[in-house]
Amino acid sequence: MIPTEDLKKVLSIADEAMIENPDGTIRLVATECRDCGQRVFPPTEVCPECMSESIKFFELSEKGTLYSWSVVHAAPKNWITPYIAGYVDMPEGVRVFAHIVNVDPEILSFDMPVSVCKVTMGLDPDGKSIESYSFVPSMTGEN
Ligand SMILES: [Zn+2]
Repeated sequence: MIPTEDLKKVLSIADEAMIENPDGTIRLVATECRDCGQRVFPPTEVCPECMSESIKFFELSEKGTLYSWSVVHAAPKNWITPYIAGYVDMPEGVRVFAHIVNVDPEILSFDMPVSVCKVTMGLDPDGKSIESYSFVPSMTGEN
């Protein structure tokens, strides 16, 4: 189980960075600067490139490609190990840091197609699920 303080950080990012559509599909939300065009994930209210506050939100695609990954064996206390942390390149030009789930790390490969999904990170003090985003390898033949 992840410490409550860490979960709050995960939750605050996931709350504004992830949306769940009525059909159950998950999409990540990034921001784009109206002044210089810089795209950022997770969303930010100030452009890190030009400091503009003229920002628009937009949805990222369902699928990206695996840029790099690492199997983590030494993690903060109470985290469940090992887990896979990776970077995923999205077609919109942003690189997303996330866990890669439901896969044997031995079969991962560079540029492998992956799809965004929702995972339960733990439980809040009221026993309610705390959810965040991860990526899972895309199934062959899936649309
Ligand atoms: Zn900018």
